[in-house]
Amino acid sequence: MSTQSAELFARARRRIPGGVNSPVRAFRGLGREPFFVERAQGANIWDVEGKKYIDYVGTWGPAILGHAPPVVIEAVQAAAARGVSFGIPNPLEVEMAELICRWVPSIEKVRMVNSGTEATMSCVRLARGFTKRDRIIKFEGCYHGHVDALLVHAGSGALTHGQPDSAGVPDEFARLTIALPFNNLAAVRETFAKWPNEIAAVILEPIPANAGLYFPQAGFLEGLREECTKHGALLIFDEVMTGFRVARGGAQELYGVRPDLTALGKVIGGGLPVGAFGGRAEIMDQLSPLGPVYQAGTLSGNPLAMAAGLAQLRELERIDGWKLLEELGARFEQATRDSLGETGTAAVFHRVGSMFCLFFTPNPVTDLASAKDSDPGKFARFFNHCLDAGVYFAPSQFETGFLSTAHTPEQLDETARVVRAALAS
Ligand SMILES: *Cc1c(COP(=O)(O)O)cnc(C)c1O
Repeated sequence: MSTQSAELFARARRRIPGGVNSPVRAFRGLGREPFFVERAQGANIWDVEGKKYIDYVGTWGPAILGHAPPVVIEAVQAAAARGVSFGIPNPLEVEMAELICRWVPSIEKVRMVNSGTEATMSCVRLARGFTKRDRIIKFEGCYHGHVDALLVHAGSGALTHGQPDSAGVPDEFARLTIALPFNNLAAVRETFAKWPNEIAAVILEPIPANAGLYFPQAGFLEGLREECTKHGALLIFDEVMTGFRVARGGAQELYGVRPDLTALGKVIGGGLPVGAFGGRAEIMDQLSPLGPVYQAGTLSGNPLAMAAGLAQLRELERIDGWKLLEELGARFEQATRDSLGETGTAAVFHRVGSMFCLFFTPNPVTDLASAKDSDPGKFARFFNHCLDAGVYFAPSQFETGFLSTAHTPEQLDETARVVRAALAS
């Protein structure tokens, strides 16, 4: 890529494993190295050489108002001037907790943490402590951060033994995690029948968005709710990606299904490192100092992060961001479908609000197995063509794209031209 980015990446590789602080940034499988970003504003990012891109990654979801929105920057500057962390209760934590509980009715009490990983990890520990059970059901292709117990998606035979996806996760931990195919309620029922009093929780992304983007089929979420209630297990929605993005109250508002616990992250922090988890008061009150489940954080709820998150969420509500994102999303979808049609490309386009994914497969995508039908070579050529033409999509077939309220119709039109040319080539 550019010489400055190449020099930086060479230096980074000497001192940072793989040259990156999170693996997807390494652009593996794309036949090129990552670029380094100098600054970002609205829907644009500029690399260190000054080349400008239209960005559809939005720092992997948090930048729902676009990059560096003035309301967030001003809130962060004002908060920073008063001190960046106290480790003593501050008023913004209360405002944030009240806002979350108002917008997400299944959440009666909430704790702030510093990442989505921490949020899901804490949900699992709390569910185990509350139910006094150890087994967890998760779904293949759902990503919940790099939590030991959740780095499992196993293959066939998963009904008996989970297998870790990562070295360093003991088989003994993985064995307590049962990974099932998404959208397969029969497999969930079988699992509950096999271990009727041992399953602490079912955890899922209600809209899976970490193996591309696909959707729960009619009745799936409702069926999970029913099974969990029947068997005394907790239903945990990981809304780190979908929370405050697909609707003000997240996917649970969209589908009308009420989980016991919810993990939040990304949009909630306005780009600062923030996560949260919450749910029924009876469960949340099992947390230390009230109850026996330990959970803590030196920087949790710090005023800088709370100020950024509150400013972003309030601005979203003020401008009715979700309506705007749906309008932009519909326009983006129409242009993409037109391009697919005109170029005769066999592909599957999925969208919910401002989240989207283009799978290079002619077959329907409903779970991890069908997502894996996509042609990685076609994706890599498409990605590289778009990037060279100044449009930055996520550097993997198995990621979701994001629109922000800062994307203009002109930028969407420009993107449509680039996409059409990429598909035609
Ligand atoms: C990003 C993500 C996480 C992990 O959040 P981090 O802040 O990266 O730890 C967990 N769950 C889902 C659904 C995510 O998209």
